[in-house]
Amino acid sequence: MEKPRLLTGDTPTGKLHLGHWVGSVENRVAMQKEYDCYFILANMQAFTTHINHPSEVRQHVFDVTLDYLAAGIDPNLSTIFIQSEVPAIAELTFLFSMMVSYSRVMRNPTLKDEIRDKGLGDHYSFGFVLYPISQIADILAFRPDVVPVGEDQLPHLELATEVARRFNILYCNVDPHVSDEAMTQAGGLFPVVKSKLGKVKRLVGLGGPNAQGQLCKMSKSLNNAIYLSDDNDTVYQKVMSIYTDPQRVRATDPGKIDNNPLWIFHDAFNPDLAWIQEAKEKYQHGKIGDVECKKKLAEAIISLLQPMQERRKQYKNDKDSVLEILKKGTIRANVLAENTLSLVKEKVSQDYFSREITYK
Ligand code: ATP
Ligand code: MG
Repeated sequence: MEKPRLLTGDTPTGKLHLGHWVGSVENRVAMQKEYDCYFILANMQAFTTHINHPSEVRQHVFDVTLDYLAAGIDPNLSTIFIQSEVPAIAELTFLFSMMVSYSRVMRNPTLKDEIRDKGLGDHYSFGFVLYPISQIADILAFRPDVVPVGEDQLPHLELATEVARRFNILYCNVDPHVSDEAMTQAGGLFPVVKSKLGKVKRLVGLGGPNAQGQLCKMSKSLNNAIYLSDDNDTVYQKVMSIYTDPQRVRATDPGKIDNNPLWIFHDAFNPDLAWIQEAKEKYQHGKIGDVECKKKLAEAIISLLQPMQERRKQYKNDKDSVLEILKKGTIRANVLAENTLSLVKEKVSQDYFSREITYK
């Protein structure tokens, strides 16, 4: 029996951090045996912010691949591939861009947040507005059953499901009343994909609140992350710098638990639940110091990252093996994406010739 399919990925704009782990990568590692997994490195999407830094994007393609392998993604089970080397994605982006109105794209709240948070004003490129559409192509080219992502990606997935439905109704004669689940059975080409959120939907960063009083998400663009590749000393120092309860000056002052990154991180990474419960109690009554709690947290994070450091050693100085993994993955990804594209062309009556992608 064929395994169900899973698609997700990352923009190579930096290295992977703990937010990626709890938001998506942990699920990917856990699901890779039961699912046929495809992981995209969205290097063209990285150009929305890195147009002046192409060699950085190239470096981050390798960094993120190394992070995947270190995190436990097995290249013999899963397919890791490069977006720009799968031409069907660009071609589907062109078609899908005709199926969504400009105003619908601009209503996407994640796009609005990015314009605000990255200070883009009205200077963003046309390609930036196009990226949610290319993300639909990234997904639908692989017709996946499930897409594990962090919370910020849900508006993009919603748009992908709208396009899938529209395509199925317009070009595959599917009755508009058919439910999402029954779309492919009713003759639709595209499944209406399901998201799968991680253990933590939106992990906060190490720093304090922003001007609006909200804790920022851990992000590679905001310099507030613990990276999967950080060594033990760096993890320790970063944990010691975590923002906690600003009202608590001495260890004997009562501390707040809610919205306190120290406890958000313990809940996410410390498996010792009994310790957490007891320490939270003491913290609220000024009976335990921040330093002790931070030390315990550093230990928990270091032991999470330790097996990753071991696996990383295997590939770290072997760029050729990493490139070979990417090449094999990209070849496999093209087989599936080309198949989807040929079916799409047939459905939209633009199937004139057949073709094959080969790599040397
Ligand atoms: P950037 O700051 O450049 O946007 P990012 O850190 O948001 O980078 P992405 O490559 O945009 O990382 O996201 C990859 C995946 O990881 C997405 O599914 C996203 O939802 C998830 N993710 C990223 N940051 C977090 C976080 N702090 N908590 C939970 N999930 C996250
Ligand atoms: Mg992001």
